[in-house]
Amino acid sequence: MAVECLDALLFFGLPNIRYLCGFTGTDGVLLVTADNTVFLTDSRYQAQAAEQVVASRTHCYRKKFSAIVDELTAGQFKRVGFDAAVLTVAAFEELRKLAHDDLEWCPLSEQLSFLRACKSADELVALKKAASLNRAAFTEILPQIRPGISERQLALELEFALKRLGGECNAFDFIVASGLRGALPHGVAGDKLLASGELVTIDFGTRVDGYHSDETVTLALGKIDGTLRQIFDIVLEAHDLALAAIQPGMLVRELDAVARDYIISHGYGDYFGHGLGHGVGLEIHESPALSPREETQLLEGMVITIEPGIYLPGTGGVRIEDTVVVRADGYEPLTEISKDYKEV
Ligand code: ZN
Ligand code: ZN
Repeated sequence: MAVECLDALLFFGLPNIRYLCGFTGTDGVLLVTADNTVFLTDSRYQAQAAEQVVASRTHCYRKKFSAIVDELTAGQFKRVGFDAAVLTVAAFEELRKLAHDDLEWCPLSEQLSFLRACKSADELVALKKAASLNRAAFTEILPQIRPGISERQLALELEFALKRLGGECNAFDFIVASGLRGALPHGVAGDKLLASGELVTIDFGTRVDGYHSDETVTLALGKIDGTLRQIFDIVLEAHDLALAAIQPGMLVRELDAVARDYIISHGYGDYFGHGLGHGVGLEIHESPALSPREETQLLEGMVITIEPGIYLPGTGGVRIEDTVVVRADGYEPLTEISKDYKEV
């Protein structure tokens, strides 16, 4: 169903609600029609909504679903869209029971996923700030990245530094994966101590005004052996080639292929199991997904990560990630830390 055919659209997902009306609380519903927006929330958020929300009207409810249905009935809406990726089946059933039978419910997911994909100048300011906190915090803790410190301690130092510098919260559970654990693409920091002769992969980010940073640095702890050094160079080159290939109008699977084909040509295709990257904004992972099958076009203003990796069980792994904004003539980097080979 095309969004234009709907009488009303209900948003339940908080990132979309924040994007569309400014509310940063944790419970509410936004009803959007061709000429009106109504924000519904409960008494806990009355004052906050009065301060933040830009809508035609705010309504404070006692019973959420009854209030939604009352609004739909009052508006005599026939076809109502909702963000199907967010509303649970139980909540949907409850709404449907309360509403009149001839109301047509239209689940939307694809149609809404690109709502926030292209960023405004204000959004880019927050994304840049978050990325610059990454650099500042990383620079601060770099002297501590040495053999003997535990992955968990390193993650904690990074978290302290980011929060002290003004980050709102961690963008996700930081990944600090050293030595053989580097072969785990999502090796959340554990008790393992960093040791010389290993690589350590650090994937981290923070949040500023609701917007996230996301970046992965892989460092060598002293001298590293042949295979590890080889896969580092391959991943860095795949990352650089993909960055250089970014152009608005290309399909995201074509961009994924630039990095993937390079890794395949060196015999490591089976060890790069995830997509090249993802959109970043009010959510750490959002549209577009940069996967080998995704037909979406890259557009100017999209903020995406480029994060190829090679993960060799029994040997170790490398991932290198930057976040960039797609520009008319290519890209502009947001993350600032150098990704060149570095021994510490
Ligand atoms: Zn990341
Ligand atoms: Zn990422």
